[in-house]
Amino acid sequence: ADLIKKLENTIENIPDFPIPGIQFKDISPIFLDPKLYEEVIADLAAASKGKVDAVCGIESRGYLFGIAIAVALEVPFILIRKKGKLPPPIISEKYDLEYGSAEIETREGQIKKGQRILIHDDLLATGGTTEAAAKLIEKQGATVAQFSFLIGLKSLNGDEKLKKFGAEVYHILEY
Ligand code: 5GP
Repeated sequence: ADLIKKLENTIENIPDFPIPGIQFKDISPIFLDPKLYEEVIADLAAASKGKVDAVCGIESRGYLFGIAIAVALEVPFILIRKKGKLPPPIISEKYDLEYGSAEIETREGQIKKGQRILIHDDLLATGGTTEAAAKLIEKQGATVAQFSFLIGLKSLNGDEKLKKFGAEVYHILEY
């Protein structure tokens, strides 16, 4: 409860960014406070302890916490990147956006068959990106054991999209 309060006081709400009508949650002030950052990592690592064999972070804010979670858990960290950034060989997954489509990728062979994977990102909105990440992982013979986020946006029902993967959805705070 203490951590939730601190985060609520630290995360900035920016109205109408990047487009009118969006309430953007800016997490960057967390990095001005190393003690708070440590508390966030301790919380997220504790939530996944013993449940996962590897952590997948989603570009790019998913890396800011994901790699530290993986180090704390002493498990591998795998980058999920946007199309065209990783050298071959890669495995990719297409998904639909509000307008058009996007693609995410991992290096082939970094995720092992049968691994229990934590998918981590800073924020769950519609769940579209995370859903594509989960499909990308299942395609490689691994299972999604858990999803974790700092923030879940309740009104967008991202959890609904993730239900079919049968994995726990953890977030520190909800708006
Ligand atoms: P979704 O695919 O769930 O709709 O969108 C989630 C992705 O968009 C995440 O990768 C997240 O980083 C980014 N995102 C969307 N809205 C916000 C926001 O208000 N604040 C931050 N920090 N990221 C956002």
